[in-house]
Amino acid sequence: MCKKIIIYLFAVLTVLMFLIAASELYSYAALKNIFESPKEFLTILKISVLAITLISCIIIYYIWMHIYSIMNNNFKDVTGIQNKVSLEAKISEIAQRNNTMNVGLMMYDLNDFKQINDTYGHAAGDKLLQDFVDCLSKILVKDSFLARFGGDEFLIVQENATPELMKNMSLKLCRIIDEYNKTAQFKISYAEGYEVSYHNHYFFIEDLLDEVDKKMYRDKAYKKKNITEDYSREKPYECIDNIITEKSFASEIFKCIQETDENKSLALIISDISNFHYFNNAFGYSVGNNILKSFCGEILNAPSMLFSRHLHSDVFAALLDVTNFTEEELLYHIRLYNKYIVNRISKLNHVCHFKINSGIFMINDRFLAPEIMISNANTARRLAKMNSTHVCCYNKQLEESEVKEAKILLTFPEALEADKFQIFLQPKVNTSDGTISGAEALVRWIDDGRPVWNPDDFIPLLERTGYITELDYLVYEKCFRFLSQNETMKNNFITISLNVSPAHLLTPQEFIDKVLNLAQKYCIDLNRIIFEITENAFIQQKEPLDKVINVFHRHGIRISMDDFGSGYSSLQLLDDIKFDEVKIDKKFFRNGINDNSKIILHEMIEMLKKLGKNIVCEGIEKEEVVDFLKKEGCDELQGFLFYKPMSESEFASMFSELYDEAAG
Ligand code: C2E
Ligand code: CA
Ligand code: CA
Repeated sequence: MCKKIIIYLFAVLTVLMFLIAASELYSYAALKNIFESPKEFLTILKISVLAITLISCIIIYYIWMHIYSIMNNNFKDVTGIQNKVSLEAKISEIAQRNNTMNVGLMMYDLNDFKQINDTYGHAAGDKLLQDFVDCLSKILVKDSFLARFGGDEFLIVQENATPELMKNMSLKLCRIIDEYNKTAQFKISYAEGYEVSYHNHYFFIEDLLDEVDKKMYRDKAYKKKNITEDYSREKPYECIDNIITEKSFASEIFKCIQETDENKSLALIISDISNFHYFNNAFGYSVGNNILKSFCGEILNAPSMLFSRHLHSDVFAALLDVTNFTEEELLYHIRLYNKYIVNRISKLNHVCHFKINSGIFMINDRFLAPEIMISNANTARRLAKMNSTHVCCYNKQLEESEVKEAKILLTFPEALEADKFQIFLQPKVNTSDGTISGAEALVRWIDDGRPVWNPDDFIPLLERTGYITELDYLVYEKCFRFLSQNETMKNNFITISLNVSPAHLLTPQEFIDKVLNLAQKYCIDLNRIIFEITENAFIQQKEPLDKVINVFHRHGIRISMDDFGSGYSSLQLLDDIKFDEVKIDKKFFRNGINDNSKIILHEMIEMLKKLGKNIVCEGIEKEEVVDFLKKEGCDELQGFLFYKPMSESEFASMFSELYDEAAG
């Protein structure tokens, strides 16, 4: 604007000068009668016009250059880009426009610049500034305006901007700086905030400035690495009051991943605190909150952190730069870091030790939907709770088991509806003479005569998801119907053992009522029924179990402690619970029987006999085991050596063959 006025002014002045000079010359010539004819006067005039124009142009050029250099010095910074004055002029010029559509701002601030100045001197600081300016200049495009507006603060005003353009510029800078840092003595670390005013996302220039400023400071907090200060002296952990939705977290991850140098390896870690609600219950909410704040602060300060967020309750997520780490090393380091966090938080809040669970997802495909990344890291976190290190990395195997589990869960309801579950019966024999004493009912998922899934695949999953109770009732009903319909079974007393999922103990009365109703419906002699309940349920759900056992005992139903010796059974348990039978777990007999297991089994059987329990051993596959158990006085045996699980019809025909023959 200013430039144009000056040029017009000079043009007008030149024309005026020329007109004045021409009229003066003409009057002088007329007075002195110098020219012989008007034609001669015109020729002289033309030559004069040319000469004056030439001289004027030269004068204008020099004056203009002089003014320009004065103006430039006023608007240029020492780094060679626009300075604060010029930036303010630019901003106020934009502010006066009718609208700010498609104006973008990118704000930058160097991290640790003061530290470099203080530690290595101003020459080093100046060089760093200049180098950063050079890097910034490389991302400029048409209509970019780069200015320095503070010591280490810069702003790019971008006209005709779009979000894509801004993102690309930001990405480009990231790559340039990464490249620079590979060889630089002082590495550049910067904070960035950018925003663009466009359709449906309109900002006035002041709001745009505010927004980029906020973004830049947020970015500064996340990018600042290797913070050595104690987190308790830092600003309060805004993140714990700053829970974000999974959707916005997903988009943040995506943005951060796309903005990070492609050569870097990234991992998403989602962590939580085991049984966090205990802290709230035991120490109150304020302690609980302090623990969360500390947890948040520690995660924020973790090495190689790109950014972290509070997802919900005690769950935090972080994106880490894991370049040069193998999966194993990463697992190890996260385990160590979690231990370190636990120590610090325990000391700071005077609480006892606790566990942090971390699920890791290595980001190999940067374009994978971030929602899937979050879900995979969460799956790994869930599994981390179950392993002793409390850290788990999502991998192919997990992926496959996830897919399998999804298939099982999705097809279970229709399989139930279509009667695809059958009971198989595995006979138990008397140790003394090998005669059948009873049978355990084992469920099978069968389609077109072939098993679809193994019980070990679907039972634990159905337990976790709560569907198992429905399946158990189906098994009980099928068994009761089989007992009531088969004449040989009716006439010969053998017991039927039924597995009970621990899930039933959550609603003990419902369980009792349903079982008794079913038994009544099929007129079952309840003395023939044994319910097998796993050892772990005895430990974890003692009270409801006591209730169930008391009622069942009154009706003649017996209780067996299943998988005895597979978990952490305590001797106290044997005294506390009124069970009738113990089923020693098959793992004792998996590879035959060695001297150590002989000692353990001997003592165990001795003790159980003294307590008056019926002793059953399952998973018997070898004669030598039978010999040993016979000697020890075990009551019943179950295993492939005697019988494999068989269908109802196979069992019925085998059973009638044995008993009808004997009777005949
Ligand atoms: P469990 O209660 O310990 O059942 C015994 C398991 O050992 C059965 O596996 C049986 O087939 C297997 N087995 C029997 N003899 C031998 C042997 O000599 N060697 C070996 N290696 N294995 C033997 P299955 O049928 O695959 O069942 C696995 C588990 O699934 C059961 O373990 C039980 O916990 C559960 N389950 C099966 N049916 C039901 C059911 O109807 N309801 C509930 N809640 N759980 C069930
Ligand atoms: Ca069992
Ligand atoms: Ca068992």
